[in-house]
Amino acid sequence: MNNVAKIMGIPFPKITMDQTLQELSKVIEKDKSELFHVVTGNPEIVMSCQHDQSLRSIIDEAGLVTADGIGIVMVSRLKGGNLPERVTGCDLLIKLLEAGNQQKWSFYFLGADDATSKKAAEVISQTYPNVSILGRHHGFFKQEEDARIVEEIQSLAPDFLIVALGAPYAERWIHKYRLYLNAKIAIGVGGSLDVIAGKVKRAPEIWQKLHAEWLYRLIKQPSRWRRQLILPRFALSALFFKEH
Ligand code: UDP
Repeated sequence: MNNVAKIMGIPFPKITMDQTLQELSKVIEKDKSELFHVVTGNPEIVMSCQHDQSLRSIIDEAGLVTADGIGIVMVSRLKGGNLPERVTGCDLLIKLLEAGNQQKWSFYFLGADDATSKKAAEVISQTYPNVSILGRHHGFFKQEEDARIVEEIQSLAPDFLIVALGAPYAERWIHKYRLYLNAKIAIGVGGSLDVIAGKVKRAPEIWQKLHAEWLYRLIKQPSRWRRQLILPRFALSALFFKEH
């Protein structure tokens, strides 16, 4: 297909951030009963899918997979797939809040520690006053509490369920409960609530423009270096992967 770029077998639609927003607005308007799962596909998820069949099926069943990170975009370009730009969880969430402020969309936020979740909700209601925050819950709960949280989300029926539990935990959680959540769209957004709450600083724009946000994060959060080791491994594996 011409409208998707395959990376290690995962099809990424060739769409910009604006087109992603349009797609998601259409999903909200259509008002279908089925939950639309958006996966922000980063190199770690793509790599895990190579050996983890259950994660692979979750990604295959998702409504949309976005290019989360410059690594995905670069590899697509080197392989002739030409993804137009990155659509990261954090950027997408901000755009959805901006659009939601115009359209009066409703949100439920699941994830991050309680203080961060509370602070993020405060920042969001100040910055986007027309967005309705139907509820929130921190992300450090036991599996026994899943049912209570799912029921709460189900009764609130938000337009967007934002799941900031880290990948691929968020993707698995959304998929497991997709039939019961009663949200129109669910998205795993990694550490975005930490950024909105000001707990974690995003790279200044110049670093982002130079596509070096990963380097900035590495310098600011050196504990991530182990995780970032996956980036060169991903680049090499993806470049030599024979796509069908
Ligand atoms: N988190 C959570 N529950 C957990 C583990 C993590 O709510 O059991 C949150 C954590 O507080 C942070 C986010 O999940 O806000 C993960 O952020 P990270 O940047 O590591 O996301 P990733 O890049 O792994 O998707």
